[in-house]
Amino acid sequence: MVLRRYTAAVRERLLSWFDAHARPLPWRTPGARDPYRVLVAETLLQQTQAARAGEAFPRFLARFPDPTALAAARDHEVLAQWQGLGYYQRALRLHRCAQVLVRDHGGTLPDDLAALEALPGVGRYTARAIAAQAFGQAHVAVDANVRRLGARLLGLAQPEDRVIEAGLATLLWGDASDSRHADRLPDHMTEALIELGATCCTPRRPACHACPLRRACHAAASGEPEAFPAPRRRRPPRREQLRLLVARRGAAVALARRPGHGRWAGLWGFPQANDANPVGRPLAGFEHGLSHRNLQVRPLLVRAERVPAEVVWVPLSRVAEGGGEHPVAAVDQRLARQLLAADERRAERSSALVGSA
Ligand code: SF4
Repeated sequence: MVLRRYTAAVRERLLSWFDAHARPLPWRTPGARDPYRVLVAETLLQQTQAARAGEAFPRFLARFPDPTALAAARDHEVLAQWQGLGYYQRALRLHRCAQVLVRDHGGTLPDDLAALEALPGVGRYTARAIAAQAFGQAHVAVDANVRRLGARLLGLAQPEDRVIEAGLATLLWGDASDSRHADRLPDHMTEALIELGATCCTPRRPACHACPLRRACHAAASGEPEAFPAPRRRRPPRREQLRLLVARRGAAVALARRPGHGRWAGLWGFPQANDANPVGRPLAGFEHGLSHRNLQVRPLLVRAERVPAEVVWVPLSRVAEGGGEHPVAAVDQRLARQLLAADERRAERSSALVGSA
């Protein structure tokens, strides 16, 4: 009984804070807790900042308003809507997920946690976020922000997600093992935890003075909230060389389809050089950072007939804008912009020479 009163007070403070401080993000439209919208929002948020995800969300939903519309689309149409967001594998998995929903679930999302977790691209976190936010089930969804928040609240140096889920469920609902104790608004509470972790319990200088859970927090009581969780040793990003072939035909460049797996699955890009390719003329290279890799990009100018027959020829200016019907990865877009800028400089130089002649 004491625990029930305690958790009720924690819930009350958390919900009041959320009512007052939640950011007005487009997927938070009142009354619009549709599971497909939660799925799209959570997929966007997996590797993209909330502000950028918030811009892409209405655009994506306008083009693919439900799983049936998304399932019927072609790969390149989905990738085109994902343009500029990176981590294109997410888009392809979301597309596959829609196809599975249409094939196995009548075009709607199941409300069962195990069935949600079995969907392509839906992991432990996303399944719990959908179950809580769209179906009102009492689950805690642990993303990076909630992991940090949970570690601090519970005083865990090296937290495991399952321990955090259980600990936060106990704090919010009083009994980790029995979701029937969730008597009020689990959808808002789960989202409130995510929001609190993202905006208040930040990695550096958490705003403990403004935190609704301060009185329940081990890390705040210790006086050193940033000490939780213990910092992990990060491996420096691996350096990797990427040799790209630049073949030009008039205003167009050759693009090849990248393999159907890996980081650029399904996208188009400048063909990659291999040992069988002829040596080309080296162009200016650059470094391109990915989350765990540092790509040393080495472009080589080659003659048009030297690239594989299955390439497509796309205007360089369109590649620089993202590729249109042939969406390209950020690294290819960057190379296209660099080539375009070099073309413009050359054209300026020639007109200056003509003018001075
Ligand atoms: S009191 Fe501080 S450390 Fe604890 S959860 Fe709130 S913001 Fe995080």
